[in-house]
Amino acid sequence: MPKKTISTDAAEGGKKTKGKTLQEKLCISLKTCWDGLSAEEARRCQDFADDYKRFLDRGKTERECAALCAARLEKAGFVNLDTLPPKKRLGAGDRVYRSVRGKSILAAVIGKAPPARGLNILGAHIDSPRIDLKTNPLYEDSDLAFLDTHYYGGIKHYQWTAIPLALHGLIIDKAGKPHPITVGEEPGDPVFTITDLLPHLARDQMAKKASEFIDGEGLDILAGSRPFSEGDRGKDDKLKDRVKLFCLNLLHDAYGITEEDFASGEIEFVPAFRASDLGFDRSMVGAYGQDDRSCAFAALHALLETAGPAKKAAPPARTILCYLSDKEEIGSMGNTGAESRAFENFIADLCELTESDCGPRLVRDALARSAMLSADVNAAYDPTHSDVFDKKTSSFFGKGLALSKFTGRGGKYGGSEANAEFYRRVQLILNDNKVQWQFGELGKVDKGGGGTIAQHAANLGIEVLDCGIPVLSMHSPFEVISKVDLYTAFRGYKAFLQECR
Ligand code: MN
Ligand code: MN
Repeated sequence: MPKKTISTDAAEGGKKTKGKTLQEKLCISLKTCWDGLSAEEARRCQDFADDYKRFLDRGKTERECAALCAARLEKAGFVNLDTLPPKKRLGAGDRVYRSVRGKSILAAVIGKAPPARGLNILGAHIDSPRIDLKTNPLYEDSDLAFLDTHYYGGIKHYQWTAIPLALHGLIIDKAGKPHPITVGEEPGDPVFTITDLLPHLARDQMAKKASEFIDGEGLDILAGSRPFSEGDRGKDDKLKDRVKLFCLNLLHDAYGITEEDFASGEIEFVPAFRASDLGFDRSMVGAYGQDDRSCAFAALHALLETAGPAKKAAPPARTILCYLSDKEEIGSMGNTGAESRAFENFIADLCELTESDCGPRLVRDALARSAMLSADVNAAYDPTHSDVFDKKTSSFFGKGLALSKFTGRGGKYGGSEANAEFYRRVQLILNDNKVQWQFGELGKVDKGGGGTIAQHAANLGIEVLDCGIPVLSMHSPFEVISKVDLYTAFRGYKAFLQECR
């Protein structure tokens, strides 16, 4: 930075520079990423999105997504860290992963530099807003069977009514054996729904605030309407709640479930529809759960591609790690969330398995030398709701990876802010690799806000920057992203893993 004071002398009498030249030199200009794609890249971008849609359809819950990621990692030669033989050590090029209680995933490739020298980390989350069952959910009212629910994450209640829902769950039987259950995903499967009031009778309802007209207790799922029958009217008349009984009987026949099993089970309802191309030009993907499985998918594949084909790949310069966490949508609490010790423990284990003398201080130094992109989605500028956005700092569809220097609400409360030095390092890596990045502040000041897993990593001493894919209709049952942003995120994450020092 040459001059330390501002003088207008040159402007008064000196030589004039052309305005257009100045503009090109001084002003930021964001182009659409579609224009920069070669034919080959455009095809890769479409193929990447096709694989992404399959990923979304097969992993609609954190457990399903974690299992899917573990399978992809194993296929690429990653070994479950918890099954390593005793005394086994790790060296450059070794690939390991850990599943944290089947709900979050940590995967790493040991670099030429060991983990103690610091890691390059991508962190995303694989839980999404949804409708969970209460612990004693099944009841009957007016010859209809309902499942009572408790929603998970920040949802607009009314968006989840009158759409087809699918059941994804896990029941643990009395012997402790897990039984995954899915209803509503296969062609011919029944689906479920939350009913809403017809407009004809909704005059009072429509006059209420949107946050009130469907309350949390109003999100009950319609699950049956046919009564159990012994075929003997006299006997049937004496039975109570026969519709509920018929539902339970069917569940028992199919899965061995009794009412008590709901208490411990984890039953989640998610939209039953599949991921689709969106728009005449198929430039977008519309699907449930893209916050944050879009970034999780891009991050996982950036790791897999940096790792290269198993056996014959050269190790990366630094140790690289991909963390796919659970519970972000409810504040990252719990032993599968980013606030838990799971993340730190995994890095400590990597240090332990590569260093001859590994103490707690060495692990803390490894963390302090680490760099992380918190890969989470951003609110894309929506022309239909322009009043809450600041156009200068919003992210836009098709304009690449959105960098958020800080998160939080109000006066940046409850968020995380990247240090200038680190933000600049990431900017340079993206620029050098021709990965277009854009701004990503969440709306106008004091219009709301949010946080990601960045703050939990930052608490461990890691340098972190929030950086993700712009999404429309975030947290709704049908979120939308741009395929070129997904592909650009993948390229950006890959460049970061390979080049961050
Ligand atoms: Mn998110
Ligand atoms: Mn979210």
